This record gives sequence, structure tokens and C-alpha cells, in this order.
Amino acid sequence: MKEIKLITFDLDDTLWDNVPTIKRAEIDTRRWIEDRVGKVEWGDFNDFLSLREELIKEDPVIEWDISKLRKEIFRKKLEHVSPKNLRDEIVEEAFNIFIDKRHEIKLFDGVENALSLLSSKYSLGVLTNGNADVYKFNIGKYFKFAISSLEAKNSKPNRAHFDEVIRRFKDISFNEILHIGDHQINDIFFAYNLGIDTLWFNNNNAEWIQDFAKPTEFSCWSSLPKIIEDLYE
Ligand SMILES: [Mg+2]
Repeated sequence: MKEIKLITFDLDDTLWDNVPTIKRAEIDTRRWIEDRVGKVEWGDFNDFLSLREELIKEDPVIEWDISKLRKEIFRKKLEHVSPKNLRDEIVEEAFNIFIDKRHEIKLFDGVENALSLLSSKYSLGVLTNGNADVYKFNIGKYFKFAISSLEAKNSKPNRAHFDEVIRRFKDISFNEILHIGDHQINDIFFAYNLGIDTLWFNNNNAEWIQDFAKPTEFSCWSSLPKIIEDLYE
């Protein structure tokens, strides 16, 4: 039996349902901007993707600095606003509004209790591609560290987040880590690639579509401590 010392968690769609949060944050921020500058052509998802490509060409850090990406998108969409310092001011303020709303989340049932239990036996950490700051929430107290794409200077499923874990922890090997997340590639393949054990949070009955074995899955946070106990204790 493996001896697990550290459990790392994804945030978005693992600890909370991120879709309603981001949708609301987007809508409210756009409304705030339009109240100041009038109607803006926001474009659809394909426009977003091509704009993102364009911005990454101009500034490669935008690939993993998603806060900068969001600001630069606002700046592009507000190109018609002048003078420039007014535009920059609106961009900064809009981003602050967005990031506040982005933290208006509702944890899945059982998250707090599971983290509390697990933190008494294991070190816990966060590995996220997003820009939510776990230390803005009550549950922040259970985590020894949080590494985002900004700190890893790369995104999951690339290995940089785990390299950063080793750098910070020193006294740990991949063999002693368990990673928990919802995303088949960005969490499960990400860890599997390095021989790190995983648990798959699958609360919407998704089909496993990878060409390697499906890890143990769970759909309800209240069952997590027992699953870990059965597997590793
Ligand atoms: Mg996720």
C-alpha cells in the first residue's frame, strides 16, 4: 500500500460548481462596463479563442496568466474608449469587479467537512489553472499551499505545478502524492503522467473517455474521507 503524505486538489468544478459563478461574474462585469461606455461587441466563444491566440502572440505569458488575459481582452474590446488612461482605469476596475464576483462560490455539500478531516491526517494543497484564491475562503485554513498557473508559469496538464510542489515541499516524492480533480485531462492525465495517484470527482455521471484505466471516482464529497481511508490507511 502506498503511503500518501500530501493530497492536492483542483478548485473549479471540484470544490464548487464554477459555471454559474463565472457566468454571473461575466454578465455583471460586462453590464458594469457597458453602463460606462455604452454597448460593446463581446463576440462569441470562437471570437474569444482567436483573440486569445492573437494576444498570446503579442505576449506569451498570457498563455498561463489568465488574469492578464482577461484584462487584455477588456482592453481590446474598449479600443474605442479614449483617452487611454480612462480606458486603463475602466479595465482595472472591471477586472476587480470580475475577480470579486468570481469568488462568489458555493462549495459542494460535504467539502468543508472532508477537508477538515483530511487535513488532520495529510498535508493538503491546491493546484489550479484558474485565478480563484482559496485563501479568500474559510476553507483556506486547511491548505498548506496553493499553486496557480501564474505561479507554475504553465497550465495543467503540463507538469510544472507538480515540479513547483516538489520545489516547495522538498521532502516529498510523486509516490506520496494523491491528486483529486474533476477534469480527465487537466487533473487525471496530468497526475497519471507522473505516476501520481488520482481520484476523479465525477458528479455529473460523465463517461470516462481516456485510453488509460479510470481511477477511483466519487460523486459526493461526504464519501471522500472513507474512500481515502479504504485505499491508503
Ligand atoms: Mg476543475
